[in-house]
Amino acid sequence: MIPTLDLLYSRCDEVGNCRLWKQACTAQGLPIISLSAKQRGMSVRRIVYKLTHERGVIAGRFVSPSCGNMKCISEHCLVQRTRSEYMIAAGRLGAYSSAATTARLTRVARSRSKLANGIESAREIRAMHAGGAPLSEIADEHGITVSAVWKIVKNMMWREVIVTNSVFNQRTT
Ligand SMILES: [Zn+2]
Repeated sequence: MIPTLDLLYSRCDEVGNCRLWKQACTAQGLPIISLSAKQRGMSVRRIVYKLTHERGVIAGRFVSPSCGNMKCISEHCLVQRTRSEYMIAAGRLGAYSSAATTARLTRVARSRSKLANGIESAREIRAMHAGGAPLSEIADEHGITVSAVWKIVKNMMWREVIVTNSVFNQRTT
């Protein structure tokens, strides 16, 4: 089931041309919605973009708000960006607050890593998969290939390091 634009906008605060999502967001502040048991954690921005642009979203592109408000899903604000454009914009918007995170993002971009936000993205990908999101949608969302998503889900890439005595380790840091 694809929601209508009116339905999505009814779940937003209206501020000028912006529509600020009032419902669920990812840990990174991206508006999400669950459409069905199998389609959980879908990007609201991508849905709005697809509803309002006949040609949809180019594979691997991010949809982000030109107004700078992370919660904005307005059709008037959303633009497609490449991964590097997206990260530059996100840095400017203060989406990733700390200087350390910004520095890490820059390093990730330089190393041409396939994940915008490293292990955090991998965790998000696994969570989306556990929630039943289709591999293609996850791939689209993160600007990577379906096979890369599969490898991450199967712990063949971005494997979690399992710390056995985690309580002890937490105390020492
Ligand atoms: Zn906006």
